[in-house]
Amino acid sequence: MILVMGGAGYIGSHTVKHLLDNGYKVIVADNLIYGHREAVDERAKFVCADLLDKDSLDNLFKNNQIAAVVHFAAFAYVGESVENPEKYYYNNVIGTLNLLHAMLTYGVKKIVFSSTCATYGEPQYTPIDEQHPQNPINPYGRTKLVIEQIFADYEKAYGLKYIALRYFNAAGCSADGKIGESHNPETHLIPLVLKAIKGERKDIKIFGTDYDTPDGTCIRDYIHVEDLALAHRLAIEKLNSYCGYINLGTGIGTSVKEIIIAAEKVSGKKCLIEYVERRAGDPARLFANNTKAKEILGWQPQYTDIKDIIQTAWNWELNKRY
Ligand code: UDP
Repeated sequence: MILVMGGAGYIGSHTVKHLLDNGYKVIVADNLIYGHREAVDERAKFVCADLLDKDSLDNLFKNNQIAAVVHFAAFAYVGESVENPEKYYYNNVIGTLNLLHAMLTYGVKKIVFSSTCATYGEPQYTPIDEQHPQNPINPYGRTKLVIEQIFADYEKAYGLKYIALRYFNAAGCSADGKIGESHNPETHLIPLVLKAIKGERKDIKIFGTDYDTPDGTCIRDYIHVEDLALAHRLAIEKLNSYCGYINLGTGIGTSVKEIIIAAEKVSGKKCLIEYVERRAGDPARLFANNTKAKEILGWQPQYTDIKDIIQTAWNWELNKRY
């Protein structure tokens, strides 16, 4: 059985569904602070558990035959992490230490982990490969980097087998429309653009138009959440023969303006735009060199056209269940 920590969240819930569709037995643990109970596939076993509660973690491992862990459970608001770093270091770092403690106590030595391109910080070159120096520029990114370093130490000392997947910008929703992206508060570009198009918000604010990019707006690498889910399954299946870190992105850069144009095409409606100042800590361009994911995991993103990604997000936005 695979334990998915944080399996009621956005990427976690899509991974749970993908694992179940591919014959895995899954147990989901989530504290439901940001996760949605409705997002958890009914074929999975569900336990409400918090990483900071060592007893509930102990019970999870005592009462279930767990072969490997996929660990999504983390706070992930960059701005909040700057204002309240303690919340992030406690939950993300101490929480992961507690999880690793329970794993090792029960002899579970395999983990796939949600890391992030935010561990690289301001890019020195693009596309970003895994050799790029890691100098995160906010506490959120630092929590993820510290955890990667803990894994490397635990590998040497305790034989932990880990793969840290460094995501670029997760986007889109499940193709069947059953689960999708629902953050509160929402800060991500694509859902905010779609809400503006729907009339749920007044407009979309573009953070800066004077970046050194062709249209002056920031470029990001938007990867479909089901392609992320697929990579997690492939990573679980690779844990016997590979240990380390792997970028997950499409390798394609899309600007903020291009996202808005694509969303207008998909929805057939216009989006009201307000141009505002740059947001602190936003690099001009971030996109992945994904050669390692292709070579090591045998992974290939299925979604390479941003319109197809946005179409799945639009379908969800029109028929959200949670
Ligand atoms: N962005 C924007 N307006 C918004 C939200 C985001 O212009 O309301 C821009 C942001 O500056 C970045 C890109 O959209 O360049 C993606 O931002 P998001 O917060 O979705 O992801 P991030 O790249 O910060 O992880």
